[in-house]
Amino acid sequence: MILVAGSLNLDLVVRAPIPRPGETVLGGELARHPGGKGANQAVAAARAGGQVRLIGRVGHDDAGSEFRAALAGEGIDVAPVTATNAPTGTALVVVNPAGENTIVVSPGANLHLRPGDLAPGWFEDARVVVLQLELPLETVRRAAELGHAAGATVLLNAAPAWPLADELLRDVDVLVVNEHEAAALLHDVADGAEMADALARRVPLAVVTLGARGVAWAARGGGGRLPALPVTAVDTTAAGDAFVGALAVALGEDQALEGALRFASAAGALAVTRRGAGPSLPRRAEIDALAG
Ligand code: ATP
Repeated sequence: MILVAGSLNLDLVVRAPIPRPGETVLGGELARHPGGKGANQAVAAARAGGQVRLIGRVGHDDAGSEFRAALAGEGIDVAPVTATNAPTGTALVVVNPAGENTIVVSPGANLHLRPGDLAPGWFEDARVVVLQLELPLETVRRAAELGHAAGATVLLNAAPAWPLADELLRDVDVLVVNEHEAAALLHDVADGAEMADALARRVPLAVVTLGARGVAWAARGGGGRLPALPVTAVDTTAAGDAFVGALAVALGEDQALEGALRFASAAGALAVTRRGAGPSLPRRAEIDALAG
């Protein structure tokens, strides 16, 4: 079982010119999508063939109910997604005609998931625990501790970029970051392979995703590069989430490391061939077909 503990944010997306301070602009039709790194990675793992449980917090509101229904529809166990007295996390997204966006996140209920809310029983049958940094840090820390104690592989996607204490990394087996996030954890390291090497001094396996340039990874005693699979990129949103969800599934299936990274890369590549976050997350059969 893949256990994801993370954020749920309703994405409210409108196409419009990005307004300057004080300006009002007219936009296109409002679109609502379930999002947030926790929810996206849970969906990515479920579509990649994993049995998934999600821990998270929503509000007592329509968005919270929509979330639970949408995630349950993906076959995800949402019993540990509980409601609290704060609005469901929301991301206000404006996308301009050039495809650039601005995003304001109101974390709301996500910040109400406290360490004491994590039931050790949720972790008992987990093979892989997947975490990101959109929950309170002390909650992420406790989830890593419970995952480690249960004997699971703890995978931390240290996104959004944030400097991390060794206290958190102590319980992490696999660290996945993009170049920007890696830079927040390191000083004066420029190249992707060097970044992975430097991070592998702090965790057993470090993976640095490099967008269209692929992946660099390092572990104690080895490392390497994997080129990206050639695809036509349309929208890079959620490539990272697709990669992390698929990597968790592959590691949970005990796939050898290079095969697991190739499977995850195929999921990331497929996600960039389609628009949006949720709708672009690929399914097992197409990931297998591209990974070969
Ligand atoms: P995002 O924040 O947009 O979701 P990210 O910055 O976290 O993504 P990336 O490094 O951009 O993550 O992408 C994750 C992985 O997806 C890459 O390592 C690569 O395997 C795959 N990928 C991303 N962009 C491309 C691309 N243009 N072509 C092929 N594969 C890609």
